[in-house]
This record gives sequence, structure tokens and C-alpha cells, in this order.
Amino acid sequence: MKRNVLIIGAGGVAHVVAHKCAQNNVQLGDIHIASRTLSKCQAIIESVHEKGSLRKPGLLQAHQLDAMDVEATKFLIRATRSQIVINVGSPFLNMSVLQACIETGAAYMDTAIHEDPAKVCEAPPWYANYEWKRRQACKEARVTAVLGVGFDPGVVNAYARYAIDSYFDSVDSIDIIDVNAGSHGRYFATNFDPEINFREFVSTVWSWENNSWKANQMFEHRKEWDLPVTGKSTTYLTGHDELHSMSQNLGVPNIRFWMGFGDHYINVFTVLKNLGLLSEQPVRTARGQEVVPLEVVKAVLPDPASLAPGYTGKTCIGDLVKGSKDGQAREVLIYNVCDHEESFAEVGSQAISYTAGVPAVAAALLIANGTWDVGGMVNVEELDPAPFIALMNRMGLVTRARHDGQDYVVDPQQQVVERSSTDKVVNSR
Ligand code: NDP
Repeated sequence: MKRNVLIIGAGGVAHVVAHKCAQNNVQLGDIHIASRTLSKCQAIIESVHEKGSLRKPGLLQAHQLDAMDVEATKFLIRATRSQIVINVGSPFLNMSVLQACIETGAAYMDTAIHEDPAKVCEAPPWYANYEWKRRQACKEARVTAVLGVGFDPGVVNAYARYAIDSYFDSVDSIDIIDVNAGSHGRYFATNFDPEINFREFVSTVWSWENNSWKANQMFEHRKEWDLPVTGKSTTYLTGHDELHSMSQNLGVPNIRFWMGFGDHYINVFTVLKNLGLLSEQPVRTARGQEVVPLEVVKAVLPDPASLAPGYTGKTCIGDLVKGSKDGQAREVLIYNVCDHEESFAEVGSQAISYTAGVPAVAAALLIANGTWDVGGMVNVEELDPAPFIALMNRMGLVTRARHDGQDYVVDPQQQVVERSSTDKVVNSR
């Protein structure tokens, strides 16, 4: 059993993580929030109190921390007696925070792959360039490290594992589809850290095709999907963290990631990019100041967390899995729909932050009760998806499946019962 959580970062996702930890503080214990800007941590704590999110009276504390400083992070982990660290700061922090966990024995979680500020759109193998180099160290220290446990990466990895195990004899392709059909009413904004958002798309994007990596240009491949609730949606092939780990762990020959973009986003993105304003390389101004254009663009765009009030519409994110079962071709969409306004009413956040934050806290609960406390480094598709999906169903992110003319809530615990009594899982559907 592990208790006491240290949340790193105080942005949009951390806001949701803090609320959800508070709702589950009976199991999780003390909650600490640490970030570069103390006032942002304090604002989250105020919001938790305002919404009455604490399940029972308990400790909720803010701390100023530069999480690039491993010694300072180790000190805070020990001082707060935190046994679980949820890293939802910038992805530049991953390796420092992970190191602090390895040296203190705390369990580690994040929601995005590590990034080097000086590099964009690195070529695969992404996890092998950074996190997986510490696998042995985690194993030797018996430290649980669950990588990429937001929605994508995270839940979509669990969906892939679940679909493969429950619906198919063999799988040929997984298309991860991420559509935000919401509206924030601003001229232009990104739904999470603009710097990280743009860095995903400014150069070559990668897909896993016929068991090897294929390089594509951004916005080169476009596809329309007819999704539940959000309806007809235009998406573009992009690279994404989970493609790498899933390509290595699942044995599926084709794995692609499709993200929805409106024409307006593409126009603004194209102008910024062509002007050189999305560059991660420093430039010198006429006054002799050195600035990184991408950091300047981030500074002038709305803070993603500020989009939440008045955000309307829904997200639909899921995996379209194709393969065969009992000699017949089969296609299953396993997905979640999340509502911006409902997320705001519950925790004061928009749905992108909500869908990333809830899975991280579900994972923390599974580590706390031992179910996912594996004592080593794993990506989400390596873990049993059933307790994760079942828990999220009760925490605000409901999983559904659509196939063969049916559309229903996936209840893995129910299916586990069916499995033991009939030895058949999905045929009963
Ligand atoms: P934000 O930019 O809103 O928040 C990032 C936070 O990290 C800020 O509070 C920032 O502090 C803090 N931070 C940055 N550097 C340091 C440092 N050196 N020490 C301590 N704190 C630091 O991002 P989001 O909340 O939108 O996203 C958080 C993470 O979640 C990102 O990694 C993002 O990629 C990921 N994400 C994952 C999703 C998924 O589904 N898997 C979806 C959405 C996001 P300051 O305010 O001072 O700058």
C-alpha cells in the first residue's frame, strides 16, 4: 500500500489531478502540489476547497520547486513522505523527476514522453532515447514507473490492450483517433501547453506501417471519420508518443495516430511556422536580446487552463481496431466522450485537461492499492487494463465500444465474471 501524493506542475492537467486526488484522499492520503510558480499551486488548492473536492478533511499543501533540480525534488519527496509522484509538469522535467523517484523509492507517473528542449519531432525510438534507459535502474530499486498515463498516451494504450485481449484472435491495425469538437471562443489557443503542442507537428511526423516506421509530412494525410456523438470529423496523421511503445509491446503491424484540426488551426499554424515563429532555436533581436520564438508565441497565447470557463462541446478519443475473430473480419471502436461543460462544472477544467488528469489519478489509486504497483518501469499497454477501465468508469471517464451495430458501456469487471463462467468474453456481446 502506498500513500501520500506529490503532484509536480500546476497547469491545466495538474488542476484536474489535484481535484481527483482530493476526491480520493481516503485512499491516497496527503496531497502536495509543487511547481515553479507557487501562486499557481495555491490557486489550485483554493479551487479544491471552493468545490469541496476533499473526500475527508486532509492535508493539501503548495510548494515552490524547480523540478529540474533532482536534489530539491528528492528533498521534497522525503519531506512530504510522498510515496507516489504524479509528474504533470512540462515534459522537459521527466528525466529529473524520474531520477528523484528512483533515488527515493517513490512510484513515478507522467502523461507525456520526455522532451529535450533543443530538439523537435525526434525520430523514433522515442522512449528508448530517454525513459527506457532507466528501466534497469527502476527494476533494481523496485520503483514502479508508469509512463504516459494520461488519455493519449495512456487510456488509448489500455484500450488497445483490452481490444486485443477481448475482441480479436489477431489484430492488423490500430488507428488512434483524437477529436475535440469543442469551442473555446478565442481567436486562437491550444488546449494544452502551446510549446509542447506545436513541437509535436512542426517537422516530420511518424506512423507505424507494416512493422516499420514511415516518415510523413504534417497535414499530408487526411481522413474523415464518423464518430459517436461528435459525428463526421476531419483528422490528420500525426506522430505521437504511444506509437513507439505500442509498436514494441503489442505486435500489431499498423498503428497510426489521427488528430482532428479545423481549417483555422491549420491556417494560423502554417503562418506561424512559415514566419519562423515556431522555431525552438534562439534568435537575437535588434536590441541584442536572445529569445526562443516558440517560447514567445507560448507567452502571448492564452493559458490552456484559462479556456475552461465557457468552453462548450465534447471530445471523442478512441482506438479503431481491425483484425479477425473466429475467421471473420472484425472492426471495433473503443472510445470515450467527454464534455467540456461537465468537466468545468465538476472541477473547473476543460475536457482536454480532464481526460489527461483523471487517468493519472486512476493509475495512482491502482498503485496505492497494489494492483499496478509492479516494481519496475512499464507503459500502460503492459498492465492489466480491466481494473483501470472499471475505475475510470466510476471516476468520470466512461469507456464505450461500438461494433457489429452495437454501442455499449464497456464494463471489464462484468466481463471478467463472464470469462470465468463461460470461458468466452466478447462473444457474449
Ligand atoms: P501547462 O503548461 O499548463 O503546465 C505545466 C506546468 O509545469 C506549469 O505549472 C509549469 O510551471 C510547470 N513547470 C514547468 N517547468 C517546471 C520546472 N522546472 N519545475 C517545476 N514546474 C515546472 O501544461 P498542461 O497542464 O496542459 O500539461 C501538463 C502535462 O500533461 C504536459 O506534459 C502535457 O504534455 C501533458 N498532457 C498529456 C495529455 C495526455 O492525454 N496524455 C493531454 C494533455 C497534456 P509555470 O507555470 O511556472 O510555467
